[in-house]
Amino acid sequence: MIELRGVRKSFGGLEVLKGVDLTVTRGEVVVIIGPSGGGKSTLLRCVNLLEPITAGKVFLEGRDLTEPGVDLNEVRRQIGMVFQQFNLFPHLTALDNLTLAPRRLLRTPRTEAEQAARELLDRVGLADKAGSHPGQLSGGQQQRVAIARALMMAPHVMLFDEVTSALDPELVSEVLDVMRDLARSGMTMLCVTHEMGFARELGDRLVFVDGGVIAEQGRPADVLDEPSGERTRQFLRKVL
Ligand code: ADP
Ligand code: MG
Repeated sequence: MIELRGVRKSFGGLEVLKGVDLTVTRGEVVVIIGPSGGGKSTLLRCVNLLEPITAGKVFLEGRDLTEPGVDLNEVRRQIGMVFQQFNLFPHLTALDNLTLAPRRLLRTPRTEAEQAARELLDRVGLADKAGSHPGQLSGGQQQRVAIARALMMAPHVMLFDEVTSALDPELVSEVLDVMRDLARSGMTMLCVTHEMGFARELGDRLVFVDGGVIAEQGRPADVLDEPSGERTRQFLRKVL
């Protein structure tokens, strides 16, 4: 589904990714952990080439995205992304936040887009909030709207970058519930998170990113219970 081969990324003189190889199969849930500044967000952003990479290759469903002539806007529509900050349009209702991209980019007729949006709002438990503006919703509700909005484009892959980190603790589980439902439905997911319970329960693989490389990876229970690297052990001691 996704293959990164020797991906390097520099910002000016700072090399943030130093040769990352990562293969994600269809339906796999890969959880990415690691210390702040280690390159996790940059790695996610390289999957859909939101960051142009300095070296290496990125394949999506067998297609080399680094080849000239690839329509990156079309590629990005196949990859949903949700961030720590929900980035909803504050002046639009939840329903209109969901329908905006399909109507603008895919020319989906309004009634069709609204029907799909209502189904997705229902799926994330917000059927009754279609007419609410983001400011009228809790952080957990806003984040669920953001996930539903990403799903509107029927993505083949979903990228989650610390989507529960800005939430009050009591709102974390309602967002994880939506991610759990999505994982169980067979969605291919890359999730940067500090939620080790989620990693253990739903991750097919846990990837520890540190200093711009994948320092360790394996089955979540194996990595969490018996990390092989000293850096992994140090990190887990701080977060567990
Ligand atoms: P993480 O998500 O693991 O905390 P990031 O991928 O956000 O790490 O950042 C890795 C490093 O890259 C950090 O040193 C950060 O300051 C740097 N970095 C990230 N984005 C940029 C950018 N747009 N310009 C310059 N440096 C950046
Ligand atoms: Mg980050």
